[in-house]
Amino acid sequence: MAEKRSKTTEEMVRPPVVTVMGHVDHGKTSILDAIRKTNVQAGEYGGITQHIGAYQIEHKSHKITFIDTPGHEAFSQMRARGGRAADIVVLVVAANEGVKPQTKESIQHARAAGVPIIVALNKMDTAGADPQKVKQELAQEGVMVEDWGGDVISIEVSAKKGSGLSELLDAILAQSEIMNLKASLESELEAVIIESRLNMKKGVVISAIVRDGTLSVGNEVSGSGYHAKVRSLMDDKGKLLKEAGPSTPVEILGFNKVPNVGDLLVQKGSELEELTIDESRTEIIGKDTKRTVTIVVKADTQGTLEAVKAGLASLVSESVGATFSLKFLRASTGDITDSDVLLAQGAKGLVVGFSVKIPGSVRDLAEILKVQVRTYQTIYELIDDVKELLEGTAYDAEAKIKGRAQILKTFKLPSGDIIAGCRVIAGVLKEGSRIYIFDKDPAEVTKEDEPLYMGQIKKLKKGKDEVALVGKDNECGILLKPQFEEIKNDLWIEVR
Ligand code: GDP
Repeated sequence: MAEKRSKTTEEMVRPPVVTVMGHVDHGKTSILDAIRKTNVQAGEYGGITQHIGAYQIEHKSHKITFIDTPGHEAFSQMRARGGRAADIVVLVVAANEGVKPQTKESIQHARAAGVPIIVALNKMDTAGADPQKVKQELAQEGVMVEDWGGDVISIEVSAKKGSGLSELLDAILAQSEIMNLKASLESELEAVIIESRLNMKKGVVISAIVRDGTLSVGNEVSGSGYHAKVRSLMDDKGKLLKEAGPSTPVEILGFNKVPNVGDLLVQKGSELEELTIDESRTEIIGKDTKRTVTIVVKADTQGTLEAVKAGLASLVSESVGATFSLKFLRASTGDITDSDVLLAQGAKGLVVGFSVKIPGSVRDLAEILKVQVRTYQTIYELIDDVKELLEGTAYDAEAKIKGRAQILKTFKLPSGDIIAGCRVIAGVLKEGSRIYIFDKDPAEVTKEDEPLYMGQIKKLKKGKDEVALVGKDNECGILLKPQFEEIKNDLWIEVR
């Protein structure tokens, strides 16, 4: 977004915006509370500490903003809407419990967003705390902390005792210094909405964190396609402000309608405004809700987008007695992005693209999150596929494929290990996957066909790096357990 505006103004370092993620009960809320308590004097301005969705503290004369809704759901919601709120993720892992499913999900979300992680090993006061074991588990997830040769900072803390929190804040400042976060008071306003609600007394109340520029009382702003004149601004200490600069969280009054969390808030009439247009506001076609198919549609131009939408809409109206409706989560132009995949994931929908690309990293994310993404070169094909889907027949075939790859070449290492170079055709290959090898395309394999080999993927490599999984359309090297001496090119691998 930064390239959309001319920056003639002087830039300043802005405070980092931090979000806390991790498994339930590992102490996210406790850490946020403990930091807030020790670093914010309640009633500093004669006001009471307010919950406005984020708070700002000062540590060694540097400010840090914390989003106080922990968890990756809020994080991905904000990202799905396009407003990247956080600069740094603090991944909380209870040192007595270690890596759990939501720890892994948090890592995936942070990684997909390209946001650096700082690990907080919490509950160090408990008898079972075993930080070394947790670090090893993290390494297995690809999060290499410093004493494992990586560059991820990890800090041992106890929210209960308040220990390690100052070091955690030091680490956040160190990380933000590396990131060189810049903004300018004079830039075009760009803020991210982090909360929005209707309050009986105050009307529509929204909270936002300014990313760049200055938000002032009296500004005409736009968010989710709604316009507002800012009537009042309040900070997290309950103090009324005239203006708020970069990384400042504020509560804003002035909207008549409730904009979406995660959407951008910009100056009305600015060139950034197009980014706030609520393309993602749901549009439902058809009334029958027995079966709703939820779709994100992407197309190369506005014209083709309208044609695709019209084609899909006619499917619903044409099917007399149809028992389904179509819900467009988003219909917009441009290549398929992480945000499209996340939006579809949240609503258990799928992404269809017409004449657009899907970058490899987005495809990987879709594989991880198990979101169906399909691209087409003809509208006819697209409509036909969705029609089959509506009829409940399509996608099943592909959905059953966990992973399929073709062996391109093999080579033997001095150790005797045989590495097979493969191309993933569908699904994903994962470390530890149980696989079968056939001498023909598994799509043509029948029950009578015996596999040549059954075993497991011991190691996966992409280039020089060992990786946990490789998605469709990528090449990788695999090492099998047990070894398969007869492995050769043109054989097929199927994950079961
Ligand atoms: P969240 O679900 O990740 O937000 O976790 P909470 O902050 O709600 O904490 C879950 C439980 O762990 C609560 O009972 C806390 O009191 C406890 N807890 C949090 N931090 C610590 C800690 O450092 N040490 C100990 N012993 N307990 C903690």
